[in-house]
Amino acid sequence: MIQRTQFDSLLRLAGPGLTIQTAADLTPHTSMRMHTRAAVHARATSPSGLMRLMREANRLETPAFLLGGGCNTLFATSFFDGIVFSLGGDFNRLEYAGGTIIRAGAGAKLPKLIRFARDCGLMGLEFLTMVPGTVGGALAGNAGAGNWGLCDFVENVFLMTREGFIARVNRNQFRYGYRHSDLREAILLEAEFRLEPLDEMERRRRVEEYTAKKTNQPYNEPTSGCIFKNPRDPETGGLVSAGKLIDDCGLKGYTIRSARVSERHANFIVNNGDSCGEDFLALISLVRDIVQAKTGIELELEVQIVGGPMSSAILN
Ligand SMILES: Cc1cc2nc3c(=O)[nH]c(=O)nc-3n(C[C@H](O)[C@H](O)[C@H](O)COP(=O)(O)OP(=O)(O)OC[C@H]3O[C@@H](n4cnc5c(N)ncnc54)[C@H](O)[C@@H]3O)c2cc1C
Repeated sequence: MIQRTQFDSLLRLAGPGLTIQTAADLTPHTSMRMHTRAAVHARATSPSGLMRLMREANRLETPAFLLGGGCNTLFATSFFDGIVFSLGGDFNRLEYAGGTIIRAGAGAKLPKLIRFARDCGLMGLEFLTMVPGTVGGALAGNAGAGNWGLCDFVENVFLMTREGFIARVNRNQFRYGYRHSDLREAILLEAEFRLEPLDEMERRRRVEEYTAKKTNQPYNEPTSGCIFKNPRDPETGGLVSAGKLIDDCGLKGYTIRSARVSERHANFIVNNGDSCGEDFLALISLVRDIVQAKTGIELELEVQIVGGPMSSAILN
């Protein structure tokens, strides 16, 4: 539990580049809109503010979780006894860096990045059409669609280690794959993306193609994106749709209190009203157990769970 003296030290950090709020309501900060509070919510708006926070969190040994747009995150309990921190201000910047390169702050929203690229006469990220979240969160989980992930377009990334040191990493210095990237070990600050020159007709075609694919997802309801990664078919090695497996097990619409398996896409869980973390975890466990019992396939979580026995979050 965060002690009074730790609170006082954290509150003293507030100043240029860093705001600190205690007993913060996180409901508006996750796309699932679940009711969670954090002992401390910090918002870093400059590298120096972030560095102060990370060094102090380390010194105090306080668990700290980095929240981007909260579109792929579930809090397991209604209270997180630590620091939840987010990036804003300087980290939201988008810049044209010449040629086909765009520089984006980790706090910038994905839809803004796509629009900015088009305004700069560039394209390439249309596969992220209607994918919410931030550049940092999307790089951490290599968000994408079809055969593409955001990490495919990275030239360089600027990051801060959890101890508060800044480094530049180029595209050959980290590994990534389907909904995974080594980058999530660090705090991503900014990335440079190599795109392609704009062909307006082709860009529109891609946007239409990816928008059409999204119509079977509950994008206008409170949800957190796909709960499970698509598993590999044990025989062919290809990816199998986790949504189809769950649907085939008859679980669409299955509900525990206010947490419900979406009728539109079975790999999404939606919040019917006032669900809390416990409801989501109970439903996730149940879906995973039934799919395993009926198909023999063990589903792996794609969503990040913070706290509790299923926690997959990186805390410093
Ligand atoms: C309706 C809907 C549709 C979706 N469709 C898709 C889709 O088609 N494809 C897809 O891949 N995803 C999809 N998602 C999931 C989600 O949009 C992506 O995973 C998104 O990129 C997450 O970004 P975020 O900023 O919200 O991350 P968060 O949920 O805030 O965080 C996710 C993880 O990233 C880490 N993180 C956040 N910021 C940083 C940073 N700066 N540095 C290091 N780590 C960081 C967090 O600590 C956490 O572990 C969808 C979600 C919704 C709600």
